[in-house]
Amino acid sequence: MANEIRKIRARQVLDSRGNPTVEANVNTEHGLFCGIVPSGASTGAKEAVELRDGGIAYAGKGVLKAIANVNGKIAPLIEGMDCTKQDEIDNAMIELDGTENKEKLGANAILAVSIAVCRAGAAAKGQRLFEYIAALSGNKGITMPVPQMNVMNGGKHADMEEDIQEQMIVPFGAKNYSKALEAGVETYHTLEKILKKKFGAVGTLVGDEGGFVPQTTTVEEELDFISKAIKEAGYDGKIGLAIDSAATEFFSKGKYRLYGKEYSSGEMVDFYADLIKTYSNIISLEDGLAEEDWKGWKELTAKIGNKIQIVGDDLLVTNPKRIARAIKEKNCNALLLKINQIGTISESLEASKESKKAGWGIVVSHRSGETEDSFISDFAVGIDAGQSKFGAPARSERNAKYNQLIRIEEELGEKAVYLGKKAFNK
Ligand code: PGA
Ligand code: ZN
Repeated sequence: MANEIRKIRARQVLDSRGNPTVEANVNTEHGLFCGIVPSGASTGAKEAVELRDGGIAYAGKGVLKAIANVNGKIAPLIEGMDCTKQDEIDNAMIELDGTENKEKLGANAILAVSIAVCRAGAAAKGQRLFEYIAALSGNKGITMPVPQMNVMNGGKHADMEEDIQEQMIVPFGAKNYSKALEAGVETYHTLEKILKKKFGAVGTLVGDEGGFVPQTTTVEEELDFISKAIKEAGYDGKIGLAIDSAATEFFSKGKYRLYGKEYSSGEMVDFYADLIKTYSNIISLEDGLAEEDWKGWKELTAKIGNKIQIVGDDLLVTNPKRIARAIKEKNCNALLLKINQIGTISESLEASKESKKAGWGIVVSHRSGETEDSFISDFAVGIDAGQSKFGAPARSERNAKYNQLIRIEEELGEKAVYLGKKAFNK
């Protein structure tokens, strides 16, 4: 049979934090295709399950059980199938697992295969990966994402408590993606200089996603440094700000605890409303509230969702069911799309489709634990997401994604679209 999957094999490799992760290889007549799975730290409670071994090796983080599931259970099921039938293959794995959250086989086992199958499918059709994903999803596959680039790390990614996790720069005012990347990189390096001058060498230590972790004590102080860097780099008015609070991490017993102060849900909404008044260049806010504070999210969206983009990460966990609820109840107006939160490419495409139908923005995102796999770059263009979140433009597991986008933009040539501010939902 043409396009037949001849062999599937998985192995344990390392992610950017030095933790084990799953790599799967899919063999067809067109070659060997690979998929490597990323891993989060500030994970949502409702994410698909990442199967870990427990025990002593790698402090319990080994993935040999997931590897055994690929080699022993998934391979016999999928080998012989047509690699261009992404839906059928993903559904077969979902059925074999049989649980709501993929806890039996592990979403890490399933996704590694799903990614590799997608690459094999593209090769079988003689298409670039982004073109193939565009065809699979019914999109044009010509939109270069506007990047949200993490320049200041905090929270779980920097061992800080009661802290906002990510402050990002958004180079929307560029003529194309490559120019936007250039603006982002220059601003990142300018910020590095500013922080070094202020704090010395410790001011430029970086967190898991490559953003700096200076000794700051308020969000305003942090945003001021970043605003100064934008100005000094010459991009005032051309680069906006985005925040990922990862608020679930500083929420407990009904209260939010941020920078030494305590807030109710309503007070957090007021906090953000004030913040965007002071920093009118904030364009997007992700996980401003905790993952089950649906009522607070609704208030937040009603209050400032017409001024900035309100992005659901832990709230939605790329799960079509939670997305449907948030669309209905108006809890947010954009999806943070992480393929390993849901565990297959087909379900990720469904999440994107439903979000688009609702008129939401879409941000295709990495995890804090990443690898050299740049699949999500092709995915972001393929679904015409309009936005991406791949961390700081430093460290090769992040730059693997930025660099792949450079190649795609070159290949698209005149066809490439860069939406700038228009990519952001309000
Ligand atoms: P994670 O963080 O990959 O550790 O979950 C990224 C995010 O919260 O967006
Ligand atoms: Zn997040």
